[in-house]
Amino acid sequence: MIHFIGAGPGAADLITVRGAKLLGEADVIIYAGSLVNPALLDYKKESCIVYDSASMTLEAVIDVMKDAEAKGWNTVRLHTGDPSLYGAIREQMDLLDELGLSYDVTPGVSSFSGAAAALEAEYTLPDVSQSVIITRMAGRTPVPEGEKLSKMASHGCTMVLFLSTGLLEEVEKELMEGGYAPDTPAAIVYKATWPEQAVYRCTVSTLAATAKEHNVTKTALITVGGFLGDKYDRSKLYDPTFTHGYREASK
Ligand code: SAH
Repeated sequence: MIHFIGAGPGAADLITVRGAKLLGEADVIIYAGSLVNPALLDYKKESCIVYDSASMTLEAVIDVMKDAEAKGWNTVRLHTGDPSLYGAIREQMDLLDELGLSYDVTPGVSSFSGAAAALEAEYTLPDVSQSVIITRMAGRTPVPEGEKLSKMASHGCTMVLFLSTGLLEEVEKELMEGGYAPDTPAAIVYKATWPEQAVYRCTVSTLAATAKEHNVTKTALITVGGFLGDKYDRSKLYDPTFTHGYREASK
């Protein structure tokens, strides 16, 4: 059996209980060494064989899985954060389907959740934003035209940008083109939940300068929007004058 597992954003104890159990049972682990905290390998058994996928092609990864299956072994493919976001798991699953090899997926805590925790922030503040756009700046990997950053920015809602730390001058430009005021609050969260986690608060127009000042070039998320400010409405859910299915309003 092949298990795709979300490793979580960094801290080794932020993997799910299920993910940790499957890691402990694995005969082979293929992990993304550039982004997954090696401390997660402490969950493995001694005899487990470990591959770092950083230097491997898709085909090489599948070959390792195929060999392990032939031996009746358990394989874990460990992806950073949650595998459903920029995880390149679909192409692996499609090749496994072609080979008739079965697999399952265990979700993980995405780095965008880790970043909110690092910021001690809520992405969906009443009257500020009720939506989170997760996207990236087009770089060597293109982004469909309809999802151009300036278009996404036109909603003015909370945004979380993955894979964009090296392109912050263009990010600033497109965010402002889309309608964010230059002084809209923003934050760069570097290595959320890792021991070296760092949070740099700035504004949309100072993202590039802030990253430069602190030498942040990768493994960071860019968060943007009024949720980083100090104005919002109280939630209806806990408002004493609001009735809902579980509670009558007090008079
Ligand atoms: N599947 C992952 C994302 C993989 S794409 C997830 O759910 O988090 C890799 C990008 O994710 C990095 O370039 C960076 O933008 C972001 N990232 C991953 N881990 C991070 C962390 N701990 N802190 C900040 N950003 C992180």
